[in-house]
Amino acid sequence: MRRKLVVGNWKMHGSHPANAELLAGVLAGRPYTLDVAVCVPFPYLSETAVTLASSDLRWGAQDVSAHEQGAYTGEVSAAMLAEFGCRYAIVGHSERRAYHGETDQQVADKARAALNKGITPIVCVGETLAEREAGHTAEVVKRQLSAVIHTLTHCVGEIVVAYEPVWAIGTGRTASPAQAQEVHALLRAQLQAATAHAGDMRLLYGGSVKPDNAAELFSQPDIDGGLIGGASLKAADFIAICRAG
Ligand code: PEP
Repeated sequence: MRRKLVVGNWKMHGSHPANAELLAGVLAGRPYTLDVAVCVPFPYLSETAVTLASSDLRWGAQDVSAHEQGAYTGEVSAAMLAEFGCRYAIVGHSERRAYHGETDQQVADKARAALNKGITPIVCVGETLAEREAGHTAEVVKRQLSAVIHTLTHCVGEIVVAYEPVWAIGTGRTASPAQAQEVHALLRAQLQAATAHAGDMRLLYGGSVKPDNAAELFSQPDIDGGLIGGASLKAADFIAICRAG
């Protein structure tokens, strides 16, 4: 039985007072029957770690360098994230693929760098609207996941995968539970061909998850929780989603 996981992706939002209020709200919503984590901007990892340290909530980053250390100005290594107690690092979010030109192989290398330091990568895959309308959804998500499978080989069972259709992120347009389940099932099948642990792996759905659609999405057989953007910034909404599992 897979334990569900809900992860908040704060993106580039936050301030000291806003974070303190949001984290206090999420803490006050406990107990949760599923695993809950927040992925915060790098500068806020320290205060997040202090605030959540004695709770069962976990925290993580929204990116990680593929490199171990060196002359990579602006990058943050997995070893550094580990020093702040990060459990998770999101890699390959569509915003990073689109605005920073991250390739499938770079995403896979980032996933490997995270795993090497004991951090679970949350590997995002997803098609654009044009790709869906052209009937290329399966091909695109399989290609994105394939790079990770080939790079991680026997360790691939240790990652979390997030299916995030690009057309549903921040748009208010959600994939229907059936549409999401269809893609999750094919991702699970692809993982099954690569690892004996595929049945234990958590596959999250992301894209305009809200309190009113979370329960139906999370009840699909291959959807093991969610990666939540906008709704993770409002404690009441995030708590409601965390209770939908
Ligand atoms: C995300 O940023 O990963 C995301 C799913 O955003 P939203 O929930 O706002 O669509």
